[in-house]
Amino acid sequence: MKTYKRKFNTRIIKINYTYLLKELASLYKIHIRTARAWVKEGLPIIEGLYPHHVIGKDLKQFLDKRQQKRKIKLNNNQFYCTKCKSASIALNNQVKLIYSGKTIGKGIKDFNIQAYCNACNTRLNRFSNETKLDELKQIFDITEIIGC
Ligand SMILES: [Zn+2]
Repeated sequence: MKTYKRKFNTRIIKINYTYLLKELASLYKIHIRTARAWVKEGLPIIEGLYPHHVIGKDLKQFLDKRQQKRKIKLNNNQFYCTKCKSASIALNNQVKLIYSGKTIGKGIKDFNIQAYCNACNTRLNRFSNETKLDELKQIFDITEIIGC
């Protein structure tokens, strides 16, 4: 059983570039057999073209999705606690919202939800944004809003 899985930086992929499998292998310094295994795993190739070619955009999507699966899924009321190394809930269900001063997309303000771990009292953080505000108000007891 292989337990070690590397995390591949997908920002180095050129979206519009078409990679040969051997180029892909040299990009990530992996064995060509690993690249072939990705194709078997679902990495799309350009059909009818030999040797196999992979479009950068497909490669990025494939790796991002593959790597996301390994992340712990959190419910709306959960945080990832770095000390417990698991999903955790906020102490007393209380959170603070701390605006970052940044916006995402069309002027939507983003903020950090900050709380303390119910199990170990470690500070917890989660990113969120204004579009979720109503939902958050229903889930949490928001004690403070900072930098709004
Ligand atoms: Zn904890």
